[in-house]
Amino acid sequence: MHISIKTVKSILTRSKVYDYVINPYVGCEHGCTYCYARFIKKFTGHKEPWGEFVDVKINAPELLEKEIMKRKKGDIWISGICDPYQPLEKDYKITRKCLEILSKYDWHIFIQTKSPLVLRDLDLIKRFQQIDVGFSIGTASEEVKMIFEPRAPSISLRIEALGILRAEGIKTYAMIAPTLPEAEGLVELLTNKVDYIIIDRMNYHYADWVYKKFGFRKVQDLELLSERFRDLGIQCEIVS
Ligand code: SF4
Repeated sequence: MHISIKTVKSILTRSKVYDYVINPYVGCEHGCTYCYARFIKKFTGHKEPWGEFVDVKINAPELLEKEIMKRKKGDIWISGICDPYQPLEKDYKITRKCLEILSKYDWHIFIQTKSPLVLRDLDLIKRFQQIDVGFSIGTASEEVKMIFEPRAPSISLRIEALGILRAEGIKTYAMIAPTLPEAEGLVELLTNKVDYIIIDRMNYHYADWVYKKFGFRKVQDLELLSERFRDLGIQCEIVS
């Protein structure tokens, strides 16, 4: 793993998904096979394979403190092209420091991760008036997860973390993106764990070789999947 400490010029970036996005890191140790964020290599000059480099935006909290005062209030997504709770967040705490700043403002925050490390920040998360904490989960199968996301936390740990957050009164969601083989089992696993579900029709062609190698078929009927959630009274939206 190649870790670099970087100072950046901005941190509260305009986004097409929410109003703003904060990416505390460039790169992601989870290195999922389908990850679209690897496009960033074109702009950063990284030669290492995706998942084997991370730039730590060391001045992110300091910048955020200044930028948030100049921006119009809006919704903030943490994060778009990295996992804000990837393993090195344990040591660098860039996400935590950014949340500390954001907790002084009444903006709506959407955290999205695959890691139960987010539970470390429950004390801070509870301070927000408007905060949704989401887990990306594309399959109910640990075996499928190991093929597509070998370095990300297990499905059971993600589901357990969602349960803990919800029991603490935090609004939770699951992002099913991409919809991996055996996603149908999520209907049972996510019941009573989330307030809502987002299914993203994202293009994940980077993982086409995985489908070929293991003879998997992509889940076609996302409408049917979302209907099964809705039948259980869980709000479910298909996007993009
Ligand atoms: S956790 Fe998210 S950002 Fe990180 S590699 Fe996987 S898909 Fe990409």
